[in-house]
Amino acid sequence: LADLGTRLRDALSSVESGSDQEIQSMIKDIVTALLESDVNIKLVARLRDNIKNQIKDSDDKNPSHIRKRLQKIVFDELCELVDSHQEPPQPKKLKNIKQKGPAKLNSSGKKITPKSNSYVIMFVGLQGAGKTTSCTKLANYYKKRGFTVGLVCADTFRAGAYDQLKQNAIKAQIPFYGSYSEQDPVWIAREGVERFKKEQFDIIIVDTSGRHKQEQSLFDEMVQISEAVTPLQTIMVMDGSIGQAAESQALAFKEASNFGSIILTKMDGHARGGGAISAVAATKTPIIFIGTGEHIGDFEVFKPASFILKLLGIGDIQGLMDHVRGLNLQNDESHKKSIENFKEGKFTLRDFQTQMNNFLKMGPLTNIASMIPGMSNFLNQVGEEETSSKIKNMIYIMDSMTGKELDSDGTIFIKEPLRIVRVARGAGCSSVEVEMVLQQQRMMSSMASNAKLMQNNPMVNSPQM
Ligand code: GDP
Ligand code: MG
Repeated sequence: LADLGTRLRDALSSVESGSDQEIQSMIKDIVTALLESDVNIKLVARLRDNIKNQIKDSDDKNPSHIRKRLQKIVFDELCELVDSHQEPPQPKKLKNIKQKGPAKLNSSGKKITPKSNSYVIMFVGLQGAGKTTSCTKLANYYKKRGFTVGLVCADTFRAGAYDQLKQNAIKAQIPFYGSYSEQDPVWIAREGVERFKKEQFDIIIVDTSGRHKQEQSLFDEMVQISEAVTPLQTIMVMDGSIGQAAESQALAFKEASNFGSIILTKMDGHARGGGAISAVAATKTPIIFIGTGEHIGDFEVFKPASFILKLLGIGDIQGLMDHVRGLNLQNDESHKKSIENFKEGKFTLRDFQTQMNNFLKMGPLTNIASMIPGMSNFLNQVGEEETSSKIKNMIYIMDSMTGKELDSDGTIFIKEPLRIVRVARGAGCSSVEVEMVLQQQRMMSSMASNAKLMQNNPMVNSPQM
């Protein structure tokens, strides 16, 4: 069965003449795809009605207009599904908190420094959801933005929990607190938070234990820890690939912990994500980040529109543009050409070569890669250095191609497989590696033609690169 994104995209591009019959069948396909991806039936029904109502409103019978309108309506409705319209609170740096007015003095005439509070974040969620991993990712995210962050391991349930957090924290050079001997998670949480508060840390993140089920003892422990550390933000970590169970799980946790935001993990795999969409809707709680891999950098701020674009296999074009804009590539002819091709729905091997060369100039490659579907799967198993050497390898391979090959869409290699052997020899690599480059280019090429299909979309339309 094709994934949700592919099915939605196929449904959208199935409309040709814009006849009522075609529209009805498109809506049916969308509804089926969403239901089979575990999106709550009530939400799907609402989306279906919204689409129908909006289509009715127009008298325009021009097929291409109808098609564009449909795409826009469906895109907006899908965004609406994942958008909670809630902004989670933002941590502040303590050193920025300035006292207003004249300094206050105590009875013996000494200045009182205003007692500023660290921003305490508590993590909740079932075992295996990705709490410990996401804790470090979040700590790293804030650390890179200049915050001081401390991690507290209040998981005494799972053997090795403290070691896991410790290893992650050491790797990312983030201060941590935990205990091998103390068995009381509430005590550890309180003690850890107190220590980091004394040292005026901006943010303190408390990792808790999860059990296999939503059991009462887990919820009791959660409430006790929460009372001990009084978090300003409680985050529920949820495995993005869980299906129907997502909604009831989220509701149970919401009642026990009143979490204020969600981190969805494992969105790199074949996550159906539909269950998670329902969880967001049921709890009216925003997703703030998504986890896209096991590594610390596989972590993205959640944005409804870019999430849906990725789901549809179009990639976060806007995010990519923002990066490229900073690079001053406007005068680069080959870059211009490849953007033109992209707008036309084409993507040749030469375009691929150009883009790979650009990537090397772009800095954090794993971030860039995450904006492109397929590319992230391809690169996200490895670290930054390895990513860049992989990309260099790909460039060597394309450097060994002839002009004719580079300007082709790649099918020339399928028709004449000996070319692969020749390129491999030239680049000093294996045929498999050449085939991987070709496969990647095909993926980009289909992304280009998808983008062309969704051209009316405001996120994709006329990139100003
Ligand atoms: P916890 O029990 O909730 O603390 O979950 P962990 O943080 O220990 O994660 C459980 C497993 O999921 C580990 O093997 C992690 O490496 C893995 N994991 C966590 N987040 C992600 C993610 O975003 N993508 C992938 N592929 N794996 C993840
Ligand atoms: Mg854990």
